[in-house]
Amino acid sequence: MSEPVFRRILLKLSGEALMGDLPYGADPERIAAIARQVKFVSDRGVEIAIVVGGGNIYRGLRGAAEGMDRATGDYMGTLATVLNALALQDALEKLGAVTRVQSAITISEVAEPYIRRRAMRHLEKGRIVIFAAGTGNPFFTTDTAAALRALEIHAEAILMGKNGVDGVYSADPQEDPDARFIEEITHQEAIEQRLAVMDTTALSLCMDNALPIHVFNMDDERNIDRVVCGERVGTVVRSG
Ligand code: UDP
Repeated sequence: MSEPVFRRILLKLSGEALMGDLPYGADPERIAAIARQVKFVSDRGVEIAIVVGGGNIYRGLRGAAEGMDRATGDYMGTLATVLNALALQDALEKLGAVTRVQSAITISEVAEPYIRRRAMRHLEKGRIVIFAAGTGNPFFTTDTAAALRALEIHAEAILMGKNGVDGVYSADPQEDPDARFIEEITHQEAIEQRLAVMDTTALSLCMDNALPIHVFNMDDERNIDRVVCGERVGTVVRSG
């Protein structure tokens, strides 16, 4: 078995990655499968922090489209990420992993508040830290939270688990038969070509701080370990 090439990573799981084949919400079997892989990688000595999305339950833009105040909708989306974080925590703890959920909004009965130094201490002790509630601010996404937290905790890379896509393509492969798979690209190129890596705010934060992003298919959750071992999986976005 190859050795991990990273010591500390940040795994971004979109809400959709937890959905499995369900049309909405989270599939317990899917979450259990992801939890098994995360525990496996953690047991190999890799420190893992996770930022989880909420799009499988609610997105602020949906509320805004229905006439709701955007900020209110975004806070609802933020709460959806907390639901996912708790489900993931439960699945990890069932496997015997030690975890902590830290939330960017105060919900002290269910999660620790986000405290950077405490999060880093948990990681040093081998605990898996799940960051809930995104950045805590409306008008942002959990991709931006992933970039922000990864930089704050000095993660060596962001692992972006996508749902049903192998990585980054030159166009949407569902719509364009000429869409080309991209193995490696710079942050700058991804921004200029408006490629579906993560949103621009998140991407430019990674670019400014030379933080590599590995984009891969979460349908095969063993990809987490493959990326951690330095295998060529999916797309790598890094500084040129
Ligand atoms: N959200 C927010 N601020 C944040 C992170 C998330 O307001 O810092 C809200 C926003 O409404 C978003 C929803 O939470 O649509 C779910 O997050 P996201 O869309 O990033 O989830 P994902 O696409 O990763 O499942």
